[in-house]
Amino acid sequence: MHIEAKNLSKIYGSGESRVVALNQVSLEIAQGDFISIMGPSGSGKSTLLHLLSGLDRPTSGSLTYDGKNIYGLDDKALSAFRRRRIGFIFQQFNLLPVLTAKENIIMPLLLDKKQPDEAYLAQLAKLLGIRERLTHLPHELSGGQQQRVAIARALIAKPDIVFADEPTGNLDSRSGGEVMELLRNIWMKTGRTLVVITHDSRIAKMAERQFVIVDGVLSETERTEVTAG
Ligand code: ADP
Ligand code: MG
Repeated sequence: MHIEAKNLSKIYGSGESRVVALNQVSLEIAQGDFISIMGPSGSGKSTLLHLLSGLDRPTSGSLTYDGKNIYGLDDKALSAFRRRRIGFIFQQFNLLPVLTAKENIIMPLLLDKKQPDEAYLAQLAKLLGIRERLTHLPHELSGGQQQRVAIARALIAKPDIVFADEPTGNLDSRSGGEVMELLRNIWMKTGRTLVVITHDSRIAKMAERQFVIVDGVLSETERTEVTAG
């Protein structure tokens, strides 16, 4: 999957409350890239990730996945595209509190009227160290465990690309480190594309392609070759 964003801008509000959250961002992402994006609070990181993943639409600019114009899809088609091709990991986990870990993980498939591949689910649960926790509710899990459940949910549909918005931001440094190691291992093993937002420079340095964003303007600061797969 080749992703191309051209001149993405996002402007919130108007008049005195006008905020240019993202300013003419262009970016190409190749299959298997591991990208980190660092920037201070309010610099436009979440806005950019929401636009790149089709969770939101820009004020102007375009986005294609293998040449397909994503913003040309209506909301229903875009949601379906996201469920099938894109995994998203949030800082606050965003698990549904009344569902067990397993139910949360398979929710994207159920929404698509698909049955989970139990063997793949078991493999993910083992890899993420949550095999014994699948019947637990989110409030019965630690933060690190909840985020690992959220990672399994992001991966269950075998998406081409995974976006993570400060995935360790709500975790202590030890479980945050574990979560990042897991994400990196999954990237290495599967060759899936990974885009991680962080304001932790140690995490940013794990990526092959490192970007910074300041006042809605994105620039690439490092590019190294690490072979995935
Ligand atoms: P980051 O994730 O880097 O902290 P965001 O992308 O969340 O930054 O926000 C970028 C800027 O856009 C900030 O100034 C923020 O206040 C503003 N912003 C974000 N979402 C909205 C919104 N829904 N309405 C108005 N302004 C917003
Ligand atoms: Mg943010």
